[in-house]
Order: sequence, then structure tokens, then C-alpha cells
Amino acid sequence: MIPMQTEPSCKKVRASLGTLGVLGMEFLMMDAPPTTAYLQIYTDKRCIANCRFCSQAGGGDGDLKKIARGMYIPSDFDNVVLRLGIAFERGYLKRACIQTAMYPEMWEDTTHLIKSIRELSLIPISVSVFPLSDEKYSTLKDLGVDKLVIPLDACNCKLFSFIKGKEAHSIYEWDSHLDGIKRATRILGRGSVGTHLIIGMGESAEDALELISKLHGEGVYSALFAYTHLPGTRNIPSNLNIKHYRSVQFGAYLIRENLVSFADMAFVSGEVVDFGIPEVDIQSLLKSGEAFKTTGCPDCNRPYATETHQEIFNYPCEPNENEIGVIREQLGITGEK
Ligand code: SF4
Repeated sequence: MIPMQTEPSCKKVRASLGTLGVLGMEFLMMDAPPTTAYLQIYTDKRCIANCRFCSQAGGGDGDLKKIARGMYIPSDFDNVVLRLGIAFERGYLKRACIQTAMYPEMWEDTTHLIKSIRELSLIPISVSVFPLSDEKYSTLKDLGVDKLVIPLDACNCKLFSFIKGKEAHSIYEWDSHLDGIKRATRILGRGSVGTHLIIGMGESAEDALELISKLHGEGVYSALFAYTHLPGTRNIPSNLNIKHYRSVQFGAYLIRENLVSFADMAFVSGEVVDFGIPEVDIQSLLKSGEAFKTTGCPDCNRPYATETHQEIFNYPCEPNENEIGVIREQLGITGEK
């Protein structure tokens, strides 16, 4: 049963600059417009949690408008919801993604936004949120949320504690996040629950691919992000480099497409030395470029969420031939044999 609507805390919603461009609320020249509307429920409070990478962390001093490289501008709620419906009807946007934060009115604000979108449009809705009760998962499903993302962000238990758990003076726990993902999958179904993983926070490729493989086996998809240090957040000793990112991205693709299992791959000091498929297959997979596109919910392309024009981690659309050449070099797999 859907509970009675409680009055939301305010009439604003945060929307990414690119989203506002597509909605006609900002004038922008975009080489890669978003295919998903990126929204965040609005509060002027800092998050109760305290993740090291996050600009909105309770103990930090970051800009509340920032999520990674994206600027999420407080915007008129009704105007965004109305234009979202029109943009979906005209095929400009294919999904709405709602990011949350932990503050007392979070649940009312989230459900109010979902209901308001649903009243005007059938656009598919993703919600990214910390673990909730089974009852709340069921409510989100009943309201029309088809994809639920519970971000682990870190690739193993120890790193999780340092990044967003006890060692970060935050409230999250690895086991309860994994449990939240498992319960959500039971309620929403396999393929309807995902997680976010931030690459470059000290994990090895082996850590990342082992976790991606385990989650894949449980029907959970992984969206990859590149770590971005933001002003006002605490330092994380980063191991982000493009070769590491590409290895994780390519290995994740092989797992996602059921071409290879984690057990088939070989690692030395945590780095991939063998993807577990013949060179000739690697060459033909590289050619398509599919492995290097943005991952996550369907139709999520997150342009410039963690990239600059100089350094692309996730391609928001098909990489071209030149870009594939660059990717080959980054992976250290140069010519076709
Ligand atoms: S994968 Fe994309 S659409 Fe899904 S929750 Fe993450 S940012 Fe939103």
C-alpha cells in the first residue's frame, strides 16, 4: 500500500546543469547531452553521513551543489517536473535519476518527487539511496521506481570503512550495505538493482573485478565512476590512472556480457595480466568500443560526471575510431595482429 503523502520540505529540486540544458532551463552548448535527467532531492542541510569523497558530507565543507564534477542547481520543482514529462514524450530524455542524501525529511522529499513525476509522465525512474527497510523498497517499487541503486562506492570492506564507514567517522557499514542490496534485489528483482563503484580510491583491479563479478552473479549491476577530489572534502590517497580504469572497465564488460568469469582472469599484484580471452577476441571487442561507454541503469550516459574534455573515463556515446586508438594505447594493447 502506498502511504499518504506527507508535505515535502520544499518546492525546489536540484538538477544537473546538463539536465537543465535539455529541459530548456539553461542555455548550454552540449557535445553530449544527457539521455537521463539527473536530479537530486533538495535540502540546504548537509548530509548526516560523512563519506570522504562527497561534497555534501556532514563533516565536510564542500559545495552542496556538487556531485563529482556535476553542478546540481537548485531549480523550481514544478517547472522541472513539467518539462521532464515533455522531454520524455519528445524522446529527449529516457530516464529520470533521483539522487538522495541523508537528512530527516529525505523519505518525504524522495517520494514526493517520484509521485510528482509519475503524475505527469511514465518516464522510467531510478533512485540512488542508502539501504532502506523492505517496506520502503516495496513502496518505491509501487510508486514506479524500476531501478534502485545502493552505492557501495568502495570496492572492498576495508576501503569501505575508510571511505564511508567507521574510519571516516560515518555511519555506514559494508555488511548492511550488502544486505540492503540483497533485500532490494529480492523485492525489485534481478537486474533491477545496481551499485556505484568509484575507481581510483586505492583498490586494485582484482578487488574491483572480484566484487563486480560477485554482484553480477547475484543479479546486481555496477556503474563505474572515476574518483574526483572535490574542494572541502578530505584527501583520499588516489591510485586513479587511466590504465587502471580501462582494465577495470574492460574486465567489468567481459563479466557483464558473460564472456569471461572472474576466475578466468589472472592478476599479478592486483593488476590484470590476463583477461581470460584470446587476443583475437580482445581485438574485436575493443573495436566496438562498447566496453568503454558509461555503465549503470539503462539509458544513463552521465556526460562529464567524472570526466573533462581532456580525459574521458566513461564515453557518453560510442567512441569513434580515433578514440578507440587512444583506448588501445591506454590499455597497452596497441595494434591488431
Ligand atoms: S547508474 Fe545512472 S541512472 Fe542509475 S542511479 Fe547511477 S547515475 Fe542514476
